[in-house]
Amino acid sequence: MIEVLSVASEAYPLVKTGGLADVAGALPGAMAAHGVSMRTLIPGYPAVMREAGLARLVHEFADLFDGPARLLAGRMMGLDLIVLDAPHLYDRPGNIYLGPDGKDWPDNWKRYAALSWVAGQLALGLVEGYQPEVLHAHDWQAGLAPAYVKYGPSDRVKTVLTVHNLVFQGHFPAEIYGRLDLPPHAYYESVEYYGGVGFLKAGLATADAITTVSPTYAHEIRTPAFGAGLDGLLNVRANALHGITNGIDIEAWNPATDAALIEDYGASSVHKRAINKQAVRDRFGITGDNAMLFAVVSRLTSQKGVDMVAANVDWLVSLGATLVILGSGDAGLEASLEAAAARHPGRVGMIKAYDENLSHLIQGGADAILVPSRFEPCGLTQLYGLRYGCVPVVSRVGGLADTVIDANEAAVEAGVATGLQFSPVTSETLGEAIQRAVTLYGRAKVWRKMQRRGMKSNVSWDASAKKYAQLYASLLGQELDEQDGD
Ligand code: ADP
Repeated sequence: MIEVLSVASEAYPLVKTGGLADVAGALPGAMAAHGVSMRTLIPGYPAVMREAGLARLVHEFADLFDGPARLLAGRMMGLDLIVLDAPHLYDRPGNIYLGPDGKDWPDNWKRYAALSWVAGQLALGLVEGYQPEVLHAHDWQAGLAPAYVKYGPSDRVKTVLTVHNLVFQGHFPAEIYGRLDLPPHAYYESVEYYGGVGFLKAGLATADAITTVSPTYAHEIRTPAFGAGLDGLLNVRANALHGITNGIDIEAWNPATDAALIEDYGASSVHKRAINKQAVRDRFGITGDNAMLFAVVSRLTSQKGVDMVAANVDWLVSLGATLVILGSGDAGLEASLEAAAARHPGRVGMIKAYDENLSHLIQGGADAILVPSRFEPCGLTQLYGLRYGCVPVVSRVGGLADTVIDANEAAVEAGVATGLQFSPVTSETLGEAIQRAVTLYGRAKVWRKMQRRGMKSNVSWDASAKKYAQLYASLLGQELDEQDGD
């Protein structure tokens, strides 16, 4: 078995604010079948400490970045964890990153430098009987961990940094550098970023391998349009950069057993979705003929391109289709979507909320799900759509480009299409894609085939887990020890 220490600021189901938590939470379970044993180092937030009652004390720090701290090891909610219990850093209520004023905690640099520094110590064999071979850091919060290994007394442990969204970079004033316990020359060599300290930048500069969550996003972030200031460095590191697409939890998202659906179904019984569709229509106040039903389930932000949906509502209704929107976020976007819904009572409905169960019902009932993101590192919504026979209509960027097969005539002919893609990403091209979807929906046999094909797509973690295992093995100069082989 390859021994991997994963370092993450979130892991589902213990603590989650975004997709990083899903990956950090799902990967360890998926890795075991591929000869990898993975433990996760995570901060001792209140939600984590509540589960840590039976954990074993494995180390104490008298002073870790201005306060005492302990390391606790144990199995919690299905994960092998090493918890960094440092109350002065993590024992705070509410959102893990934000203070009561809704702004980032001013000492976030210290909170995550501590996490990364401890990871570096574990790589050096801090805890007797535990020696990881690979340190796998996630996002800016763990970005300094590869730097601590590289500039520490031994860099024998190999390091991997995964970027879940390049936009979040952990950029802090240069003044903190002296507190980080890194040598002076590391500043200009690796850590300095636009005159300050860049946590993610430091990781990108020092990790042995960099991964991001889809192959297309791995290419895109090497361009100025998607590189968020880091494309130059990513080009220098191109040989170390890999794209590995995320999977989804196929147990929690299974239309054959989903308790959130009115009627469960499988690829051979997609007609049963009609019952769920009626339930979705009822929830959103959609009336009249049983028209094609588009859906949006999304954070309402500019990244997600929902302004382009708002711009297309009148057009979509003019094509005879209907639309439901579940989401919340940016106040301006909420207002424009609400106004669009108000213009088309009975044809367009909006619920301004985060509602996990309703999102399942929508995937199990709507005909198509719109995901017109401007950029999308991987995206989960379209994967749920595929699994539920809710045909994804997506912009051709990032993970959306990699996971949906566009229904051009050749793909329809060959029976391999699973959704619709549009490019470049504009309101006009989204409008064209909506029209194309309405036309295809009219070809009932073709549509059904596309649904079935999508439902058979492999969206599980297994394929991704194998790629991570291959990456670890190659860093260690090993052949992959495949237990299940293929
Ligand atoms: P991101 O992590 O950038 O928001 P993803 O597509 O990777 O985008 O993941 C979004 C997840 O959040 C999906 O599981 C989606 O179903 C869910 N989601 C987004 N908005 C809502 C909402 N209003 N209610 C329920 N689930 C939502």
